[in-house]
Amino acid sequence: MPTSDNIARHDAPEGGASTDKTGIIVNVAVPVPLRRHFAYRVPDGYDISSLEPGMRVLVSFGRRRLTGWITAVDVPPPYDAIVIKPIDQILDDQPVLPPDIISLVQWCASYYHHPPGEAFSTAVPATLRKPQPVPVAVKKRLVCTETGQQTDIGALRKAPKQQGLLSSLRVAPNGLEKAEVAASYSNAISTGLINRGFASWTEIPEMIIPFDPATLSVQHEHMTLSGEQAAAIEAASKPGTHLLFGVTGSGKTEVYLKLIEHVLRQGQQALVLVPEIGLTPQTIERFRRRFSLPVVTMHSGMTDNERFANWQKARDGSAAIIIGTRSSIFIPLKNPGILIVDEEHDGSYKQNDGLRYSARDLAVLRGQRSGVPVVLGSATPSAESFHNATNERYQLLRLTTRPGSIQLPEQRIVDLTQHPAEGGLASPTETLMRRHLDAGNQVLVFQNRRGFSPVLMCLSCNWRAQCNQCDAQLTLHRREHRLRCHHCGSQLPEPTRCPSCNEQQLIPLGLGTERIEQHLTTRFPNHPIIRVDRDTTRRKSAFAELRAQITEGTPAILVGTQLLAKGHHFPGVTLVVIVDLDAGFYSADFKATERTAQLLTQVGGRAGREEREGTVMIQTHFPNEAMFSKLIDHGYERFLTDLFAERAAFALPPYRFIAAARAESRQPETALGFLKRSTQGINIPDVDILGPLPANMEKREGYYRAQVLFTSHQRMQLHEALTRFMHQSDELSRSGVRLSLDVDPTDNI
Ligand code: ADP
Ligand code: ZN
Ligand code: ZN
Repeated sequence: MPTSDNIARHDAPEGGASTDKTGIIVNVAVPVPLRRHFAYRVPDGYDISSLEPGMRVLVSFGRRRLTGWITAVDVPPPYDAIVIKPIDQILDDQPVLPPDIISLVQWCASYYHHPPGEAFSTAVPATLRKPQPVPVAVKKRLVCTETGQQTDIGALRKAPKQQGLLSSLRVAPNGLEKAEVAASYSNAISTGLINRGFASWTEIPEMIIPFDPATLSVQHEHMTLSGEQAAAIEAASKPGTHLLFGVTGSGKTEVYLKLIEHVLRQGQQALVLVPEIGLTPQTIERFRRRFSLPVVTMHSGMTDNERFANWQKARDGSAAIIIGTRSSIFIPLKNPGILIVDEEHDGSYKQNDGLRYSARDLAVLRGQRSGVPVVLGSATPSAESFHNATNERYQLLRLTTRPGSIQLPEQRIVDLTQHPAEGGLASPTETLMRRHLDAGNQVLVFQNRRGFSPVLMCLSCNWRAQCNQCDAQLTLHRREHRLRCHHCGSQLPEPTRCPSCNEQQLIPLGLGTERIEQHLTTRFPNHPIIRVDRDTTRRKSAFAELRAQITEGTPAILVGTQLLAKGHHFPGVTLVVIVDLDAGFYSADFKATERTAQLLTQVGGRAGREEREGTVMIQTHFPNEAMFSKLIDHGYERFLTDLFAERAAFALPPYRFIAAARAESRQPETALGFLKRSTQGINIPDVDILGPLPANMEKREGYYRAQVLFTSHQRMQLHEALTRFMHQSDELSRSGVRLSLDVDPTDNI
């Protein structure tokens, strides 16, 4: 039996001596790791008629003061509350978040079993998490000073340009923007006025007004839409979720642009989600070039102020198109017209820490709730989305060809058992590469593993370089002479002798991009080799520089990881070489096969995007392995059909809903024991509980990890089990254990 003391602690914030229950009570989502709202009393004398959900308040919580979000106004007092503390300060005089976003965040908190206050923190820009009123956006403008207003303008006769600028400033109460001044006057002119004390650069609050659709002008590219494109545009202008399944280079972006044009003409906004890697200047440029209305972006490279400014423009309707990565799904829109998720299969839409949400799934939910079309686009749809399309929950729209006479690349297989590879390349591959380079083209060599070699081994005693924080081997980075763990980042100098037997018999095993690059340099000394992976793109502008070098189009060999595979348009590439097809297909992760097939199809799609015909050369030891011979012979869709059979047989998504609870601890067994106790006695019809078991890589970053899986045909039942589980785990001592719950996981299952 809980004592009344701890009821009070759980249901109203602790401390405080007031027992007043007469004031109006509001529910507040406070950013603390507890899965509930907290009741607070509105201070006496406050005009409660102006109080609404979506306003922020400063509240005492224990000994801290925190910024929380009002989620409900005038609620009955919690039945068992003894003390209800007053709000310390109401930060906003009107809601900062609109009702649809509040309800989306609350949906997340409940569906992902996450503390609501922390869900709000995830969903809003950092600026709003601070205990301060909403900052007003300001812009520097050149304004006329008091002296400037009163001076005799005729006295400036000898400086006619200054005279002209001053007379413009006199009639502009809010002054002129830098660009407006620069359009007609040089810097010297404005400086002249400033030095005379007639004008000054002043920060003026920025007016945010909705864009005007009447001013829209559209810069069309000259092309005739294909019948499939036209049909897709027609269908996807209607509410509902649409899966745009278009082969690589089939003109999906053109479909998005046409749909957006339609929406903008009605004065509505478009939200476009792109994978992290997809938010390239090229993409943004294409949208800006097409439409005269404001396009704003949201990504991790921006400062808090920049993000907040764009967030406000979206919320208040002055931004017409918002292009952003995962977290942009929470951006409020004044007047939503369409939600687009490009490359919907991409793993970056899933957040894998904190609030473990899927931005793709939230887009579908948000579209349904606001009655606007949602378009999920991909050349390689995820199994879930394709399944939903075949069940007619989503409408399937296909683009099966590339525009004009551009052909999909031809695929060739090299059997590595017949043609052994040296430095990653079999001799037929090398011959073909020479042919393409000699014809003036570029070749892309794909290997999804960076570093020199994934294993360093001693021939004399079989020692292998291991990470002491993880159950993983260290990758050799030869150029830096270091061994690095790709899981925790720890590193060591490259040993010259075996640390175990002291012999000088260490050999690198396996191929990373660095090793392939080295081999290519010896085999193709006359061609530039451009390596693109996490190691060569660490510097902020490095990727852009490499991309610029590639798009010059002169013959070159690009070698890289999945960074090269996604969404890029490299017009010079006519040959794509898959160094090792077999790598991704043998993994314990249930999504691994699907991901590998997507990656192969996407990287293959980089070949021959313009007039020049493309080829994909696939090296494998198992040319007859069923899964990928299907993929290669019959394409991605047939592959999915086979994958579905396998998923159904193993009771995996999309045939079952799953959730994974994970725990980790410094001590072996602690995490596992914790999960055992938290799952004890949970017995819900139609819910299977698998485990707990040690995770695939049990030790990682010094923590021992365990996992338990919940699976069911019924979402309701699954959530009932999860609620029970979270409740039981709350009752246990968490000391030394970190727990997380992942609903609809996409990793490490
Ligand atoms: P995706 O987004 O499917 O990769 P894009 O929309 O980028 O494809 O189109 C690929 C290329 O084909 C682009 O250069 C685009 O301008 C061009 N394109 C798209 N649709 C057509 C069309 N109907 N006729 C001619 N060219 C087109
Ligand atoms: Zn040894
Ligand atoms: Zn490690």
